[in-house]
Amino acid sequence: MTDVLWTPWRLGYIVGEKPAGCILCQKHQEPAEKDRHNYLLHRAQCCFIMLNLYPYNNGHLMIAPYEHVGELEMLNAETLTEMMRLTQRAVAALKKAYSPVGFNLGINIGHVAGAGVADHLHIHVVPRWAGDTNFMSVLADTRLIPEALDATYDKLRAIIKEEGWT
Ligand SMILES: [Zn+2]
Repeated sequence: MTDVLWTPWRLGYIVGEKPAGCILCQKHQEPAEKDRHNYLLHRAQCCFIMLNLYPYNNGHLMIAPYEHVGELEMLNAETLTEMMRLTQRAVAALKKAYSPVGFNLGINIGHVAGAGVADHLHIHVVPRWAGDTNFMSVLADTRLIPEALDATYDKLRAIIKEEGWT
């Protein structure tokens, strides 16, 4: 299984205390002044984009509706369209920022399917590079992650601002 990313810092997420309530709702309900602190990258009409705090790779982000909904069939057409539009934009921004050579895009529905936040639907966008599985296993260090998240946030925010996303 050489194509599976080895991300030991995620262990903190898997074994750690889960915060009460829905983390996705908490982040977007906090004031916009805290967006950088919360790694919330962009607020659109129906959905928002935030960095994954326990990334599978550099630049791993998530697109979620504001609405606390766990099932795809419960989202209206406007929200679905915006989720996909934001996915498209996120892919373009990540290409610009990091020149990945591939992406994993995915929605995990239900705990059994691996959803960390099972009740609040979100699309994962994970950029991939040739050899990233080896690279990450060498560089993995939990202390590096917060700095990596800050740098990723600033880089992507700059692109979003430059392109004037609404
Ligand atoms: Zn929620």
